[in-house]
Amino acid sequence: NDIILQIKNLKTYLTTPSGIVQAVDGVDLNIAANQTLGLVGESGCGKSMTALSILKLYPKPQGKIVDGQIIFLGDDLAKKTEEEMYAIRGKKISMIFQEPMTSLDPVFPIGKEIVEVLTIHQKLSIPEAEKQTIELLKRVRIPEPKRRFREYPHQMSGGMRQRVMIAMALACRPALLIADEPTTALDVTIQAQILSLINDLKSEFQTAVLLITHDLGVVAETCQQVAVMYAGKIVEKADVYSIFSNTLHPYTVSLLNAIPRIQRDRKRLESIPGRVPNLCFPPGGCRFHPRCSKKMAVCSTTEPLLKEIEKDHWVACHLY
Ligand code: SF4
Ligand code: MG
Repeated sequence: NDIILQIKNLKTYLTTPSGIVQAVDGVDLNIAANQTLGLVGESGCGKSMTALSILKLYPKPQGKIVDGQIIFLGDDLAKKTEEEMYAIRGKKISMIFQEPMTSLDPVFPIGKEIVEVLTIHQKLSIPEAEKQTIELLKRVRIPEPKRRFREYPHQMSGGMRQRVMIAMALACRPALLIADEPTTALDVTIQAQILSLINDLKSEFQTAVLLITHDLGVVAETCQQVAVMYAGKIVEKADVYSIFSNTLHPYTVSLLNAIPRIQRDRKRLESIPGRVPNLCFPPGGCRFHPRCSKKMAVCSTTEPLLKEIEKDHWVACHLY
């Protein structure tokens, strides 16, 4: 299939008063058209920083891509200037976040915001942009789109606001949609509706989707490919079926055990012992070794490299 995005050995570091944070440290990922790649891990593992690196939206001047390539439709984004990135953001690559309230302008009716995107980026006339906006609101299954067009963000529910964000993200028919925890703030029913909407639109628009989540339940419902990230590195990568049926990396096993058992006890979420390390001073050898129940002597001294253990199933662990 057509690879839309190919990230090769990406390293994004941040200079902070306490040292250099190796937030993204040698990441390799591919996403094809009409495919959703789930990037999973606990918070603080570098998932969001990986996404922000693609758009060069990491904090500046602290953040910097120090190595690697981000090949998007044949072009290396890592080499692009700020002006060149401006022509890509929101047009060829769009991003949606956990809390739409922070990205929507509170003093603008939501329809007007989408109209603005269409007139600026797509150079449409206002009547044409208004027509397309209503169309987009229908596409994301917002009921009564003509009335909703005039509503302000605070008049809408969280789920409706996230639909508006998706409509806006899709306004320019991007080749890649990045969704960073898009449903984390929503309740379970609404979460399922938003995920199925992203799924449908991905097929309809042939978009590649990078879905960032800490929740493997969300991955199971939405993704075809999965990459598990720990402490700035990809530790396991495979298709969604293999990740669940043939889980290899001890960190992925812990994440799976942390999925709440909905049938039994909603509140009992087994958390993973220990904490995500400070990425200024990551542990030597395998970065997961201080928390790993399977660790061996070699684990604290030698870094395990990502290897293809079975066809298209990659893992970075000395057990394999
Ligand atoms: Fe555990 Fe060692 Fe594998 Fe790291 S390399 S996950 S410490 S067994
Ligand atoms: Mg995050």
